[in-house]
Amino acid sequence: MNEFSLINHFFKQQAIEREDVVFGIGDDAACLAIPAGMHLLVSTDTLVADVHFLSEWDAYDIAYKAVMVNISDIAAMAANPCWISLALTLPELNPMWLKRFSEGLHSCLKKFNISLIGGDTTRGPLSITITIHGLAPVGQVVRRAGANIGDKIYVSGELGAAALAVASCKINKIEPVDKQLILDKLKHPNPRIDLTTILRQYASAAIDISDGLSADLNHLCDASGVGAKLDISAIPIHQLVKKYQPIKALDFALSGGDDYELCFTVPTKKEKEFLVAINKLGLSCYVIGTIVGERGLSILEENGEISTLTPKGYSHF
Ligand code: ADP
Ligand code: MG
Repeated sequence: MNEFSLINHFFKQQAIEREDVVFGIGDDAACLAIPAGMHLLVSTDTLVADVHFLSEWDAYDIAYKAVMVNISDIAAMAANPCWISLALTLPELNPMWLKRFSEGLHSCLKKFNISLIGGDTTRGPLSITITIHGLAPVGQVVRRAGANIGDKIYVSGELGAAALAVASCKINKIEPVDKQLILDKLKHPNPRIDLTTILRQYASAAIDISDGLSADLNHLCDASGVGAKLDISAIPIHQLVKKYQPIKALDFALSGGDDYELCFTVPTKKEKEFLVAINKLGLSCYVIGTIVGERGLSILEENGEISTLTPKGYSHF
């Protein structure tokens, strides 16, 4: 097997063929049909071995995570994912590894009806770069900038479990069932595409929580030129984080990262309708605070005191 038969066997033959792909893998560039009235959203995320995942992970999970974290960025913009390209750097040509990798890849793509439209295959230290393309109706994209004073701040799910999984090698006595659960959170993020239409209708700003809630909310506030006041008792902390890290639980939730939930703001005049709409869809989101004029983050402690919250999250450098 060489580079070209590899591409053909593991990537081209199994690709989903969406009607809007005029042509995909096989030419020097893919050709896509963008419907009138839609904006094209483009985002790239790289996963590097032993930084974002461990080399010893099942290749299925590596591919799965690589696709899902990209979909999460498209979800944060209130767009629908359509196409990806894949730049794959491999230390060796290992058919068993590639088989598992392509199974993980295609299972995600199938789940969200996304076509693999091209890529690049090179030799080097294991890394996966995916560029994802999504569509949203013109005028309905949600950005980080857009939050206004008085807007309510929401998160879409419980936080901290993925960070607990990363730390779990240093924590004694995690029961096997619990360990399985948190590793699943780390390896199989669930991007919140189910919130796309809700965000379009009700959100003034949104961001995905990949680096940690405090760091990412701070980015949203900076982009919007505002600050945030959070309520400590309202932060949704995953129950296993409370169980195994009772003292540091809040830290895990605020700055652990890798959760791939969304943080978004809703103007108060839309809040009632928003709550009815998510209820109808059977979804639950958590209100954690309010957008304020004063820049930076603050948090209302359980004793009633307000303290400054220093944004903390994952940073490569
Ligand atoms: P070029 O030499 O022009 O860079 P390649 O030989 O790298 O082209 O790729 C041939 C075709 O296979 C192209 O259409 C490219 O998009 C596609 N391709 C290469 N690597 C991958 C991959 N890992 N996944 C999907 N498509 C790929
Ligand atoms: Mg190439």
